[in-house]
This record gives sequence, C-alpha cells and structure tokens, in this order.
Amino acid sequence: MRVLVRLDLNVPLGEGGRIDDDRRIRAALPTIRKLIDGNGQLILMSHLGRPGTHRDDRVKYSLAPVANRLSKLLQKPVPLAAGCTGNPARLLVNGLRNRGLCMLENLRFNPAETIKDKEAANSSSLRNMKDTFARELAEMGEVYVNDAFGTCHRDNASMLTVPKMMVDKPKVIGYLVRRELQFLGDTVADPRRPFVCVLGGAKVSDKLGVIRALLTKCDTILIGGAMAYTFLAAKGVDVGNSLVEKDLIATATELLEQSGDRIVLPVDSIAASEISSDAKPKTCDGDIPKSLMGLDIGPKTMDHYTEILIKARTAVWNGPMGVFETPPFDAGTVAVAHALATATKRGATTIVGGGDSASAVDRAGVAHRITHISTGGGAALEYLEGKSFAAIDILDDA
Ligand code: AMP
Repeated sequence: MRVLVRLDLNVPLGEGGRIDDDRRIRAALPTIRKLIDGNGQLILMSHLGRPGTHRDDRVKYSLAPVANRLSKLLQKPVPLAAGCTGNPARLLVNGLRNRGLCMLENLRFNPAETIKDKEAANSSSLRNMKDTFARELAEMGEVYVNDAFGTCHRDNASMLTVPKMMVDKPKVIGYLVRRELQFLGDTVADPRRPFVCVLGGAKVSDKLGVIRALLTKCDTILIGGAMAYTFLAAKGVDVGNSLVEKDLIATATELLEQSGDRIVLPVDSIAASEISSDAKPKTCDGDIPKSLMGLDIGPKTMDHYTEILIKARTAVWNGPMGVFETPPFDAGTVAVAHALATATKRGATTIVGGGDSASAVDRAGVAHRITHISTGGGAALEYLEGKSFAAIDILDDA
C-alpha cells in the first residue's frame, strides 16, 4: 500500500548543507518505522526553508542532506526525487516496493504549495494552480499520514488540499502529531499543579495570545527576554535602551492588573551597551541606565525563577530569557533549562516549545531530562493558545 506521509523535516542547515539540529528528523522515525514494518510503500514529503525563484536556491534548499541523514538513521536507502511532482517523482514512486521509501524534493520548490486558501478564493488561476499540484500529490498515495506538527497551523497544499482530495482514502495523524497534541493540549488543559509557565523571547506582540490563554490555566507565568521590558516599563521601571514595544505598554498594564500576582517579572537584569561577547555586562537591580539595554535576567531573578520552577508539577517553557546566542547573555536561559531538568527529576511534566528554547536545553546538556520538547515553533504557540488546526480536523478520527 502506498502511503503519502507529510513530515516537517525543515531542519536548520549550516555551511555546505550541514544539518545543525536533526531533532525533527529523529522525531519522524517512529511513524516511518511503523509504516515500514506494516509493509508500506512510503512517499515522504516535506518543505525546507523558504526557497525563492533563484537557481541557487534549488541547491541551497534541496532535501538531499535530509534524505541522507534519514537514510543513515534508518540504515536504508532513501532515494530523493529530483522534483516533488512530474516525471522525476513518478519514476521513483512507481518503482517503490513493500517496506521501501522515497522522498520528494522540497515541496516549496513548487509555488503552489504555499498559496494561501484566502488568496485562492479570490483568484481562479491560483485555485487551479494549488488544486492541480495537490491532485498530483494526492494521486500518488492510497493512504495519507500527517506527521508534520510544525506545519499544522498552515494551509499549505500538502497539509490541507491534498487530504481534502483523497476523499475515500484513509487520512490519519502520525505518532509525532499525536504526542504533540497530548502534551501541548491534554497536559496543559488538565495540569498537575502548581502549573508554571516561562515565557521569553523578543516580542510581547508575538506572545499576547499565548499569555492570555495560559493565564486562564496556569498558576504562575515567569516572564523573561526582551518581552519583560515592555512589562517593566508598564510598571514604571526605567528600562534604559532595552527593547520595548511602546504600543503594547497599555496592554501589558491591563494584563498585570488582571493577573494579580500570577505574572512574575525580573527583579534584576544583565545589561550592556551592545549585543556582543566583548561588551562589559553590568548587573542592574531594577532600573537600567539610559545608555544600556537589558540583555538577560540577572542572578536574583535566576534564583527566584529556579525556586518557583523546581516546585512545579507541570511546566511549559517558550522563548529565551536573554540574547542566549551571545554569551554571557545566555546564563538566564541556561539556568531555566537546568531548573526544568530538576523539576522533571522531581516528578514534574516539563514541556519545551519553540526552536530557541529547544536549542537552549540542548546547549545546557539537559534535553534528555525534559519530558517533551516540541518540534513546532509557531504551531506549538498556536496550539497552546487553544487554536485548532484545520489540517488535523479534516483527518479521520483514528
Ligand atoms: P522569539 O523568536 O520571540 O522567541 O525571540 C527569540 C529572540 O529573542 C532571540 O534571538 C533572542 O536573542 C532575543 N532576545 C531575548 N532576550 C532579548 C533581550 N533582552 N534583548 C534583545 N533580544 C532578546
């Protein structure tokens, strides 16, 4: 039986196609192995990066390094079609045997993949393009499996139009999507308490939805990252040159008023005049001088957040506490990673979402001590916000 499997193998690539983090490839293995063991003929599809129309992009964003890595992990050949549709794809698909697999080239090499349904609704030529592309993919498989959690919030052709077109064929989620929904949905909906969330990163605006949703469920939200400075500015703290979203100060004030003492803010910061490992960091208690910007949470905040986190029975973390890419401004983020690992050891369920926080737990060497590290960035946030995904809702309830 031919199984069309949508995965999210969108991994970070370095120089010369080096895979910097293969978590998403490893996370796809349980579903792939199950389908191989069931004598399936697997057609794997994924996107990678955001290729444009430039000729070099065909090399830069090729799934070749991903197919190679998967082949090594499975100890099985994973031939890559030179395209995602047309003759190159058909040739490989028609040659598939039971327990064999092939991978289609980057879905985003075809611009139809990312045409939004809203755009297609207003243009018959875009609708035709998207449908023609999706039909060709749909005809390749007898069964459709969505195990692409990181892409579930998108209305890409391979996520929504393809399963819609496989009318009488079975369409199901894979093991990774099931696991993500269990942790980001079920665990968060019915948490063991105390339930503590840690939110960081660059912008309040990106996380407003998730802050509001989590405030209805959790006992404490610890705020860090640049986001914290919009909240601190709302409280009248002098934040110097730190990143502040001025238009969100009123919203931050409102959230602080609504939350009572459940939103917890940093009491100190590590500040510097520039984001550089050579900058002279200064620990600031409260106010930050005009010439400096807050780039990490300070030592008192680290201790305070650690103390709260290690007592949690459920913890969710999204977004770094500082500019963790540039040491020494990574200390707060690493401290949170260690606190989560300790909480897990003490019996808590710990969930990490988002690429930055996931790479921070890797860097801190504690990834194996986190209960669930989500493979979805935007998708994880949207699911935590309580949004549902059309790409999952249209599948069979199996
Ligand atoms: P996000 O994608 O919203 O999770 O934001 C992650 C980015 O926020 C990372 O690249 C961090 O370097 C950045 N970031 C975290 N804290 C700060 C800060 N205090 N000032 C500037 N950027 C920050």
